[in-house]
Amino acid sequence: MTVTVHKDVVCTFCGALCDDLEMHVEDNRVIDVKNVCGIGRSKALHGDNDKPECRVRGQQATLEQAYDAAAEILSRAKSPLVYGFSSTVAEANRVGVELAEILRGGLDNCSSYCHGPGVLARQHVGLPTCTLGEAKNRADLVVFWGANPMESHMRHFSRYSVQAKGMYTPLGRKDRKMVVVDVRPTPSSKNADLFFQVIPGSDYEIATVLRALVCELPLPTLADDSLVGGVPLSKWKELVALFKACKYGVVFFGIGLTQSQGKDLNIEQLIRLVGDCNRHTRVYAMPMRGHANVNGNNQVFVWQTGYPLAISFNRGYPRFNPGEFSVIDMLNRGDVDAALIVATDPAAHLPHTAVEALKKIPTIVLDPVNSLTTAWADVVIPVATSGLSAAGTYYRMDNVPIRLRKILDCEWPADLEVLQNIKERVLDAKDH
Ligand code: SF4
Repeated sequence: MTVTVHKDVVCTFCGALCDDLEMHVEDNRVIDVKNVCGIGRSKALHGDNDKPECRVRGQQATLEQAYDAAAEILSRAKSPLVYGFSSTVAEANRVGVELAEILRGGLDNCSSYCHGPGVLARQHVGLPTCTLGEAKNRADLVVFWGANPMESHMRHFSRYSVQAKGMYTPLGRKDRKMVVVDVRPTPSSKNADLFFQVIPGSDYEIATVLRALVCELPLPTLADDSLVGGVPLSKWKELVALFKACKYGVVFFGIGLTQSQGKDLNIEQLIRLVGDCNRHTRVYAMPMRGHANVNGNNQVFVWQTGYPLAISFNRGYPRFNPGEFSVIDMLNRGDVDAALIVATDPAAHLPHTAVEALKKIPTIVLDPVNSLTTAWADVVIPVATSGLSAAGTYYRMDNVPIRLRKILDCEWPADLEVLQNIKERVLDAKDH
């Protein structure tokens, strides 16, 4: 059997979207992958295997029967929820938004419980940011705050940041200082020049004091040995000195910051700190987005509705209110009477109470592989895997759109085609 080698393939596991993979394909199966980390390798080798059965209420069904059942459930619902999209293409996202609007339903994505607070902060204070290419080529100071890329984005160091050799950082690690701020030692912190182990929930206080130090404001109640977030002020002064001395700094922040006490206010204060640093030098901030296209979800939702997440169409126009229209709150309050889940596994990610609420209502799920949700959903529609057997567009964590190619053939349709089919049937049902 001939082995075909595909170069510059995009890994669709995490928001780093490494686009230099080399995939070896034999007999329509990926048999080897190069230039990839462990988690990306597992996704590439197995991401198109273990397809769920196409089912309606526990019985094997054809695609046409599944589309009909999905459209019937959604058309009858008074308050349906369209949710997910973190691992599918922007083009499918767009049709999902149209469907939610036609249904006058709720619309949310996975950023609701990961980087959503950072998206809200960005709306309030903007975001001085850069691309990963600029970070690679220019950054002589990289700070990871509430992020552990050695375990979550395993090629970030070598491809974009700490160890990457760039135009103005030809020696890679030797040309950069690395700082980690986290609540516990991590594999990432072991590589840092400076590690700040901070008290959980103290990020806002720390960012506020750092701002004062950067702006040279008096701090009359604090001495050098006073603890700020559990770390002496004198240590924080070392970080401020690094910020002021660098030529190009990047602060990568993770969900340790977005989901700890303060949430969006933490990110607002961090962004303001980065803004203050720009009085002295160039410093930027960037979220370490997790799921591969969760950033694309925010992008598409904003183009289509004006809002990035937690949207309701129940009045016929988009309204935005995180906490009211967020997936977990909607489910916990019992505000949803049917759900369309696309490219995510809520049974694995959402709190138990929200999952139990979901199990009580008719649920339709589109997934390329068996998951905890496909085990009990009323309608299960297997789909091609984005980036392996379906083409389309993802958005990297730095907002750069990356085109995915189709590498494998698949007997199942892409999410985009499934959503279009359901949408047409819902429109037909509304016409009658
Ligand atoms: S760092 Fe992320 S995108 Fe890159 S190979 Fe690993 S899982 Fe894939």
